[in-house]
Amino acid sequence: METLAIPIFVLDTTSRVMLWNRACERLTGVPARDIIGTRDHWRSFFEERRPTLADLLIEERAGEAHRPRIGLPDDPHLSAESWCDMPRVGRRRYLAADASPIYDERGRLAAVVETLRDMTDEKLAQIALEQLATRDGLTGLANRRCFDETLHAEWARALRQRQPLSLLMVDVDNFKAYNDANGHLGGDECLKRIATAVASEMRANDLVARYGGEEFAVILPNQSLKGAASVAERIRTRVEQLQVPNRLAPAQRVTVSIGAATAIASPDNSASELVAIADAALYRAKHMGRNRISLPLTEPA
Ligand code: GH3
Ligand code: MG
Ligand code: MG
Repeated sequence: METLAIPIFVLDTTSRVMLWNRACERLTGVPARDIIGTRDHWRSFFEERRPTLADLLIEERAGEAHRPRIGLPDDPHLSAESWCDMPRVGRRRYLAADASPIYDERGRLAAVVETLRDMTDEKLAQIALEQLATRDGLTGLANRRCFDETLHAEWARALRQRQPLSLLMVDVDNFKAYNDANGHLGGDECLKRIATAVASEMRANDLVARYGGEEFAVILPNQSLKGAASVAERIRTRVEQLQVPNRLAPAQRVTVSIGAATAIASPDNSASELVAIADAALYRAKHMGRNRISLPLTEPA
């Protein structure tokens, strides 16, 4: 065990460290001589006192002294993955741990072996992939795919909980002209600033997404139409107050139009109807002169 490439430590049944192999020294930065015979092994992994997986297994199994051993005990292992602070090496690592009991010839728990695997690179790659799959590259907001998934999940939840679900569709006014005047990169900068402004009005359970080119969508769970209208008005004002100037027409400021919709989810309506109603309201806001919010003509059932 001492020279195995896999980090391993072994605890006795009182959670005292019996073995701390070289690979474990390398992983934790803690030499075996500092830790063997102590119960301080948790300090190698966590800033604050927390049981390791091996400790949990000892707690679970210690009460089972003299358990009769017929073949192998059923599923005696524990497995877990988590971020560890690694105070001695000073950088967080994502570790996968497996703890397995060792029984003596009478079937009593003698020790627990914990093996560790450093999965940090895999975890970071997974996070980056999730980020790529759900985030919009330009604005950092949720992307269209994430919006679609969230809307359907929120719709299902609203249906279960009989709560209202509101949606805002936000579209930048005359953005084609802005792009023509300020160039595509200038347009991109403007979209980023608007995205930040819209996101700043969100509560924890709301989702703001980039729905398409210069359109944003905001999901407001458990929000009435009145509440949605006031969020929409706050977003509209905030974008106006950004005072993003148009290079060719400095007097003109970038503005948005917003359509709102609210539904009490029921089996008779659907999330896509909610989108259609918000879209129709947005269209009316454009028609009425832009830089305004618009509500549905009739509230859906
Ligand atoms: P309206 O007030 O009716 O919404 O007019 P509009 O000009 O904003 O609408 P239109 O749909 O005609 O034009 C949208 C423009 O948004 C055209 C497109 O080039 C621009 N656009 C879409 N996505 C991006 C982007 O990622 N970056 C930049 N810079 N421009 C974009
Ligand atoms: Mg548009
Ligand atoms: Mg537009």
